[in-house]
Amino acid sequence: MSALLDELRSRMAEVIDLRMALALLHWDQEVCMPPKGAIARAHQIATLSALAHRQFTCDAMRRMVDQLAAQTDLHGDDAIMLREIRHDLERAVKLPPEFVAELAETTSRAYEVWREARARSDFKAFAPSLDKIIALQRRKADFLGYAESPYDALLDEYERGMTAARIRPLFAALARAQQALVARIAAAPQPDCAWLDQAWDVERQWHFTLRVLADIGYDFEAGRQDRSVHPFTTNFDLADVRVTTRLNPNELFSALTGSLHEGGHALYEQGFREADRRTILAEAVSLGIHESQSRLWENLVGRSLPFWQHYLPRLREEFPGQLDTVTPEMVHAAINRVAPSLIRVEADECTYNLHVILRFEMEVDLIEGRLRTEEIPECWNAKVKDYLGLEVPDDAHGCLQDIHWSHGSFGYFPTYALGNLYAAQLFAAAQRDLPALGGDIAAGRFQPLLRWLRVRVHQHGRRKRAHEILEDATGKAPDAEDYIAYLTRKYTALYGLD
Ligand code: ZN
Repeated sequence: MSALLDELRSRMAEVIDLRMALALLHWDQEVCMPPKGAIARAHQIATLSALAHRQFTCDAMRRMVDQLAAQTDLHGDDAIMLREIRHDLERAVKLPPEFVAELAETTSRAYEVWREARARSDFKAFAPSLDKIIALQRRKADFLGYAESPYDALLDEYERGMTAARIRPLFAALARAQQALVARIAAAPQPDCAWLDQAWDVERQWHFTLRVLADIGYDFEAGRQDRSVHPFTTNFDLADVRVTTRLNPNELFSALTGSLHEGGHALYEQGFREADRRTILAEAVSLGIHESQSRLWENLVGRSLPFWQHYLPRLREEFPGQLDTVTPEMVHAAINRVAPSLIRVEADECTYNLHVILRFEMEVDLIEGRLRTEEIPECWNAKVKDYLGLEVPDDAHGCLQDIHWSHGSFGYFPTYALGNLYAAQLFAAAQRDLPALGGDIAAGRFQPLLRWLRVRVHQHGRRKRAHEILEDATGKAPDAEDYIAYLTRKYTALYGLD
C-alpha cells in the first residue's frame, strides 16, 4: 500500500518535471528565443507535451490510481493528493494524445502569427489560425463532455466547477454597478494629471520595479524579472518563479503596476509548501485565486494612498527633479484615474471588468457557434462602443490585443474578474484580522500581509477548493459585495461623489 503510494508519487514527480521543462520552453519562447527558432520550437513543444501527456495517462498510472482509490485507509495529504491526481487523470484521458499534440503545435505556431498580425494590425492574417484553434476548442469540449454549454468544459480547466450560467448573473450585476460608477465619475471634476506628461527613463523604471518587488517579499534568489511583449509569471518550482514586465517611457506606472501584478502571482507560487515540491499539491487551486493574489498586490496595495505615502519619496530618488511638486495624494489620484481605454491591461479598476465581460460574452458565442471567426472585429468593436463608449481605430487596439486566444486559452478571461472579486473579499478580511495594515503599508512593511496570505491562501496549494479558501479566510462564500463596496468607497472619495 505505501509502496504503491511511493510509486505513484515518484511517477507523478516525473510528469511534473516534464511539465516544468515544457514551461521553460514557453518562457524562453517569449523572453529570449530568436524569431527563426519558432518552427523548431513548435516541434519541441509538441513532442514534450505528448510525452508528458503519455506519461501521465499511461496504463500503470491509471492502474495505481484505481487501486489506491479502492482503498479506504488513505488520509490527510495522501488522500487529497490522490483525489487531485484522479481528477486530472480522468480529465486527461478524455483527450487523445494526437489531439493534445495537434493543439500544442497549432497554438505554438499561432502565437507567432498573432504577434505579426498584431504588429501589422491585420486580423485577417490571424483569422485562419484562430479559426483552427476555435474548432479545436470545440472538439476539446466534446472530448471532455459537459452538461449545458461546451464553454463550461473549457472554463472548468481554469476555475473548477464554474459555469457560464453561474457567471452570467454575476457579471450582469458587476456591469450594472461599474457602468453606473463610471458614469458618475465622468460627470465629476477630473484630477490634474498633467505632471505625468514627461519622459520617464525606462532603466530607472526597471530599477524601481525591482526594488518594490524585493520589498513586498518576492525572493530574487528564487526568481527573476525579464521583459516580454505580454507580462506573465511562470514557475518551474517554488524556488524558481519568474516574472516579466513591459517598459514604456511615456508611462510612469504601467511597468510598476505590471510588476506588482506579476509579483502577486509569483508570491503565491513561492508560497507553496516545501514538502509539496514535485507534487500536484504545489499548484494553484484555480486561476481566480491566482488572479486574486496579483490583483490584491497591484490594486488593493499598489494603488492605495498608504502605499504612495511610503513610495513617493523613493520614486523621487529615481527621477530627481521630475516629481518635486507631486504629493502622495496626487499620485493616488493619477494612478486611479478613471478613463475608459481600449486596452484591457491598461484599464483602470472601474472599467477593467467590462473588458472581461465583453470577452466572456464573445467566447461563449464563438464556442457555442453563434459567432463566426470573421465576425470577431465587428462584434468586438460594437461591444467596446456599448460597454466603454469608445470607437476602436484598428484591430491592434481591438480584438488582436490579447495573447490568450493564440494560446488556445478559451475560458480563461472570466477568471480575471473573479480574481478581482476574490481579492477585495480577502483584503477586507485581512483588514479585519490586521488592524494595523494601513499603517504597515504606509511604513513599507508588507510582511504581516504576506504572512496572512501565506497562511490563508498560498500554503494550501490544491488542498482546498477556491470557495473553501474564501470561506475559511473571510467567513463567507465568494460574492461581489466586498468588491463593489471597495470600488464605491474608493472612487466616491477620490472623485468627491456623493
Ligand atoms: Zn494575472
